[in-house]
Amino acid sequence: MSQIHELDFLKKKVDQLKADGVFRVLPILESANEALVIVNGHEVINLTSNNYLGFANHPRLKKAAIQAVEQYGIGAGAVKTILGNMSLHEELEKALAIFKKEEAVLVFQSGFNCNAGVIQAITDAGDLIISDELNHASIIDGVKLSKADRAVFKHSDMEDLKRILVEKRSHYQNVLIITDGVFSMDGDLAKLPEIVDLAEAYQCLTYVDDAHGSGVLGENGRGTVDHFHLHGRIDFTIGTLSKAFGAMGGYVAGKKVMKEWLSLRARPLLFSTNLPPAVIGALIEGVKMMSESDEYTKTLWANSAFFKAHMTQAGFDIGHSESPITPVMLFDEALTVKTSKRLYELGVYVSPIVFPTVPKGKARLRVMVSAAHTQDQLLKAVEAFKQVRKEFLEG
Ligand SMILES: *Cc1c(COP(=O)(O)O)cnc(C)c1O
Repeated sequence: MSQIHELDFLKKKVDQLKADGVFRVLPILESANEALVIVNGHEVINLTSNNYLGFANHPRLKKAAIQAVEQYGIGAGAVKTILGNMSLHEELEKALAIFKKEEAVLVFQSGFNCNAGVIQAITDAGDLIISDELNHASIIDGVKLSKADRAVFKHSDMEDLKRILVEKRSHYQNVLIITDGVFSMDGDLAKLPEIVDLAEAYQCLTYVDDAHGSGVLGENGRGTVDHFHLHGRIDFTIGTLSKAFGAMGGYVAGKKVMKEWLSLRARPLLFSTNLPPAVIGALIEGVKMMSESDEYTKTLWANSAFFKAHMTQAGFDIGHSESPITPVMLFDEALTVKTSKRLYELGVYVSPIVFPTVPKGKARLRVMVSAAHTQDQLLKAVEAFKQVRKEFLEG
C-alpha cells in the first residue's frame, strides 16, 4: 500500500526543516496586540508587531467596530461586486481618498490581496513589469499572475533601472515600475523622486507598495508619496490597513478610472467576500483620528528616535534605517535565534529574521517600536539587549 495518505512526502519536508534547525512551532499571543503582551504564558514587551500607532487595541476603534456590528452585523455576506459593497465601505474609501489626496481609493481584503488583484488587472501581454529585487512577496506573487514580461533591478540601484529601460523600453507597450515605499527588512526608503524622474523620461507607469509607509511617513502618516511631495506623479499607490491602521485590509489609491476598471476586474473583489463591518467601522474611525491629529505619528517617531539613540549609544549596529523599523544586526543565524530566546526569558519579545527572509550572514532582530510604548519599556528593552550581549560575549 502506498503511504500517500499518511502524507509522508510532507513529513520528509518537515523533517528536513528540523534537520536544518529552522523548524518552529508558532508562538501564541494570549492577549490583545499592545506594547505589553502575553506570549506563551509569559508577559513580555512587544518589539515585533506592525501595530505602529497602537490602533490594534485602541478604545476609539473598538467602540467604532462594535457600533458597526450593531448596525450592519457580522459579515458583508457577499463579494464586493455582488452585494458586499456596503455604505460603510463606500464611506471608508471616500475618507481614505481625501486622506491620501487622490481622486479615488479602492479597498481590498488585505494588502496581499490588493497586490494579487491589481497588478494582473492593469498589465497585459506585450507589457513589461520592472521590479526592485527586494520587493515584498505579495508583489512577486502578484507579478506572477500577470501576462506581462518581467525584469528585476538591483535594490534601489537607479543605474541598473536605467540600464533596463534603455535596453527594453522600446520593445513594449506599457512599462510598469514597481517598488516598496519602505523596505520591510532594513527600513530604508525607495528612491522615489529618482524613480519618478526615470519613469517620466521613459514614459512608464509607477506603482508603490507603501505598506510600511502608510500611517507612518508623511504629514499625519499620509505615506511615502506624501513624504517626497510626489502627489499626482505616482499612478498606483498601494497600502495596507493591517499595520499602522491597526485592523485589516489593503487599498489602492489613484485615478477615478483606475477604480472603475479595478472594481470590475480585480479578481479578489470578484471572488472573495468583502471585509466585515467591524473592520470597516474601526478603519473609518482610524482614518478620522489620523486626519485630526499628528500626535500618533509624532509619538511613533519620537519613540523610534529614542530607542535608536540608546541602542547606538550602547554600541549596537542598527543598520541604515530611515523609518521606525530598526534592524539590530547580529549577522550570525544561530546567535540571532539564541539572542531572541534569551530576550524572551528576560521579558522582551523580538523575532529573529534569518535566511531565506534575508541573505545568509545578514541575520538580525528586527525591532518594531510603536507609539504605544513608554520610554520606560524601551529603556528596559535596551537593558535586556545589553544583558544578553554581556552573557554571550563573556559567558
Ligand atoms: C505587510 C505587507 C503587505 C501585506 O499586507 P497585509 O495587509 O498584511 O496583507 C504587502 N506589501 C508589503 C510591502 C508589506 O509589508
